[in-house]
Amino acid sequence: MDHVVVPCYHAVSASWDADLSVTPERLEAQLERFRRRGYRPARFSEAIEAPPAPRTVAITFDDAFRSVYDIAFPLMQRLGMTGTMFVPTAWPGRDEPMSWAGIDHWSGGPHEPELACMSWDQLRELQDAGWEIGAHTHTHPHLTEIDDATLAGELERARQICTDRMGRPCASLAYPYGDYDERVVAAAGAAGFTYAATLKASIPDPRPLAWPRVGIYYGDADWRSRLKLSPVVNSLRASRLGDAVDRVRGV
Ligand SMILES: [Zn+2]
Repeated sequence: MDHVVVPCYHAVSASWDADLSVTPERLEAQLERFRRRGYRPARFSEAIEAPPAPRTVAITFDDAFRSVYDIAFPLMQRLGMTGTMFVPTAWPGRDEPMSWAGIDHWSGGPHEPELACMSWDQLRELQDAGWEIGAHTHTHPHLTEIDDATLAGELERARQICTDRMGRPCASLAYPYGDYDERVVAAAGAAGFTYAATLKASIPDPRPLAWPRVGIYYGDADWRSRLKLSPVVNSLRASRLGDAVDRVRGV
């Protein structure tokens, strides 16, 4: 029986007590625990398409916070683990702090430097080390709340920029805020994405374009039990998922 776990992290900081940050110690303890329990690390698309081991973990990060480059990347290198980064393509290379609903209130305060985005060079360094770089739309909107043309623009532009900057096709997407519905899933497929990550820990019938992830947050005392409850994908997975992948590809 396969067990594929996809945790979702954002920032990593020793001092930032934002809900979307975790301390380096907590991150290391969680990664070590996966390793001890025999989980093989995989990129997000691999974990869906062809998990390399019965126990597979795809560590994912949303938003391309620079702290992931500074702290999580070297830590995971040391542990022999690779991950997946989902980048809002409007942000790398800009000097000002990232800004959207949900992180805006940290601007102007002592933690503002935590809002720095990674550069494209840093993202390429991750990719060269074996990470997958996916898109997190262009500007990080709530996708269910924008009109069809804006939705298509957010997805197509992000995929194009990610593909151009990384020099390889961008296959994966993470829905900002985990916010998606059937219209959004269809638009993601139409924009050329094959895989997309949600923030629902459990989806009865996971599809490549609506894949469950477990969000891990600051002060989260309950992550162990939630990871245990995360999707156990049984032996039916291969055939059912195979059909879904074929549908997505229009085969
Ligand atoms: Zn995000």
